Amino acid sequence: MSLDRRAFVAGWLPWFFHKPAETLSGVEFRVLRYAHSPRRYLVIHGDEDTARDVLTTYMFDHDGVAYVVTGKKREVVIQGLTIDPNRMFSREGAERSLKSLNPSANPEQLVTALNYLDHERGKLLDHLVPRKRSRLFALHNNRDYSVNDELAASDQTSIKQPTQPRNFFLCTDPSDFEVLRQSPYNVVLQSKPDPDDGSLSRLSARRGFRYINLECAIGEYAAQLERVHWLDDHLP
Ligand SMILES: [Zn+2]
Repeated sequence: MSLDRRAFVAGWLPWFFHKPAETLSGVEFRVLRYAHSPRRYLVIHGDEDTARDVLTTYMFDHDGVAYVVTGKKREVVIQGLTIDPNRMFSREGAERSLKSLNPSANPEQLVTALNYLDHERGKLLDHLVPRKRSRLFALHNNRDYSVNDELAASDQTSIKQPTQPRNFFLCTDPSDFEVLRQSPYNVVLQSKPDPDDGSLSRLSARRGFRYINLECAIGEYAAQLERVHWLDDHLP
């Protein structure tokens, strides 16, 4: 069984079983898929190697569809302009990210990139939005960011590991928070769609799909994998 799964993930089965890569909104993702599952997984920042390694390992023997960005940098280039890919989920958020990362871009370039993202967003979301009330689970790594930066913006918090503030869950669905708060880990709930910064968490709050983000300090592979297992063992 495990050999079959490995073969599947490695792409040795005929091409029509799955596409091993997808370019969505101008960003290339590796697609790891096992079984017909409505669950979706995501690594969107290319410089978050621990999250990429954890998710790639995890998908060898768990059901779901995972999208893993193939680039190695945090930012991506869209129509010649740099953007944080976790700010492209609304026009408003994308515009702010494009302006701050491309201070010398002219208005036409900005409009071209924003129109392109508007045009591509539907296809991107067709891939990422989970089916059947399932969930999208995104893995991130941080270098100078922690749960303390999110406390004021959160509706509810459960900080069981105050000495590990860089490792925490952020969820958008109150019933997921009720489950995650039973864990031994840090978790915050942010269920409001505003302020719209163009991130997936705000989009999920607006659209009403379940989204969970797991932040861990870069390099803490075992800690991140352990939390991914906890979530999948406890959350429907
Ligand atoms: Zn990230």
